[in-house]
Amino acid sequence: MKPAENSSGVGASFTLHGAGVSGGIAIGQAHLVSTARLEVAHYEVAPPEIEAELERFDRAIAQVQGELAALQAGIPAGAPAEMKAILSLHAMLLNDANLSTVPRALIRNRRCNAEWALTLQMDYLASQFEEMEDPYLRERKQDIVQVVERVLKAMLGTGHAPSAPSHEEDLIVVAHDLSPAEMILFKQHRYAGFVTDLGGVTSHTAIVARSLNIPAIVGLHHARSMIREGEPLIVDGREGVLIVNPGGQVLDEYRERSRQIEIERQKLKRLRNARSATMDGAAVELQANIELPQDVEEAREAGAAGIGLFRSEFLFLNRDDLPSEDEQFEAYREVADAMSGRPVTIRTLDLGADKSINGADRAGPNPALGLRAIRFCLAEPQMFLTQLRAILRASRYGKIRLLIPMLAHAHEVEQTLAAVRHAKEMLDGQRIPYDRRIAIGGMVEVPAAALSLKYLARDLDFLSIGTNDLIQYTLAIDRTDDAVAHLYDPLHPAVLQLVAQTIRSAKRAKTPVAVCGEMAGDAAMTRLLLGFGLREFSMHPAQLLAIKQQVLRTRIGEVEALAGRVCRAHDPAKARALLARLNA
Ligand code: PEP
Ligand code: MG
Repeated sequence: MKPAENSSGVGASFTLHGAGVSGGIAIGQAHLVSTARLEVAHYEVAPPEIEAELERFDRAIAQVQGELAALQAGIPAGAPAEMKAILSLHAMLLNDANLSTVPRALIRNRRCNAEWALTLQMDYLASQFEEMEDPYLRERKQDIVQVVERVLKAMLGTGHAPSAPSHEEDLIVVAHDLSPAEMILFKQHRYAGFVTDLGGVTSHTAIVARSLNIPAIVGLHHARSMIREGEPLIVDGREGVLIVNPGGQVLDEYRERSRQIEIERQKLKRLRNARSATMDGAAVELQANIELPQDVEEAREAGAAGIGLFRSEFLFLNRDDLPSEDEQFEAYREVADAMSGRPVTIRTLDLGADKSINGADRAGPNPALGLRAIRFCLAEPQMFLTQLRAILRASRYGKIRLLIPMLAHAHEVEQTLAAVRHAKEMLDGQRIPYDRRIAIGGMVEVPAAALSLKYLARDLDFLSIGTNDLIQYTLAIDRTDDAVAHLYDPLHPAVLQLVAQTIRSAKRAKTPVAVCGEMAGDAAMTRLLLGFGLREFSMHPAQLLAIKQQVLRTRIGEVEALAGRVCRAHDPAKARALLARLNA
């Protein structure tokens, strides 16, 4: 693409195209980040302050040395074996002069503040690791980043704090790639928008970006290298268009579009208290997906009938230790309390693939097909037991339900139910109360599950279709890989048939069934799913009212036949044309 001068002549104006993951328009200035964890202030230290800055640096290093020693001494019984090795490695890296001494020279000679000096040295070390031939050593770059992150955190409590950039609401984050763990840290910020070079629309990074409810685009390929800090940007999250250095006329046009979107959003708010039912009276349950307990507020504001998916693994990210049973219990109870008796569906740990805990990197050669979700939990029984006990203990404070991710085999259901029984017996022995009738459900995210539902669901109380993974595993495309993002097609006949068939079989067996993947929050799919017989949807709170609007405008009697035809369409293009008719 050849950049062209914009009308004001200030800078080259050009447009990049990616996949819009979160609607709306953001107008602001580019803020380039390498990793969300390491957002630090950069400033020059005045000569008389240098000794104090060196002391601040030394104090933070000493504090983290102490923290790592304490963590090593107190590794919980259920922790994965790798955790010990990783903590020793982190201690070793921290004690090395490269991290604990070299930044001192940068503070003294170049008068960088401590955080800046440390991240400069980290960037240098990371680039050295990146060039290594051995893949194991190359991966150790992540460990350097994690150790540095700890030291930065420690610096927060030692004088100057690394302040968040000012005017965050005018900034648009531009990153090459961000992991889901990094993305979740942005919940503490108030940026105007997000764009990344990598990532697919249903990657967990994109899902978290969507939950921030700000315009976002992924899969832009070269944005990070083509854009300079501070350049004016327009993010059109609906169309997946990024305009760099827009001219005055373009800016005016997008300001107007943004105003229209805001008017629409305000109108939708009026639906909050409307009964969620179709025009011919079928009640439709609209629940919310959350990643952290703090998200529950947004779910309540949107009028969610419950939490259909609490991705509990986010409690385990961005830390070197595991959350204790008590800490998990408090988090689950907080959500149950906030939802005042409405259902709260806690999905047991879905770690692995693109979400791994520090110190337990078990990615393996093909992480999406590896030891992920329920497979990981069954391989780590102590860790699983801790979570099950915490969920059970919280279950007496509301209507908690337990959801098992990524089932493929009936024996995984049996083993999980045995683990729940064991946790219940332990609590009984300790006279700790819990909801004895807690419902246990399974996610249908693997074609094997959809095709063997009769056996798999025999002992389950409810089902939830995870379309993000169901599409990934049906079409054999990694949902995090933007190189195959164009093949990720929810309207592929194989996908539609699996979804429709799962809903049908569940209804026949009188097992409640929901969809909690991104398909549930896509207003273009609402009528289709209603036509398939779905009556429970779970999505990001920000999408809930738009879906309610679709429900309120639909007559089941009018969409069933056409939905059947979409499902039977031979190719996605035909399905798309029929879907357009369904939504007309
Ligand atoms: C899904 O796979 O559709 C789902 C809801 O789970 P997650 O996106 O967390 O994998
Ligand atoms: Mg999933």
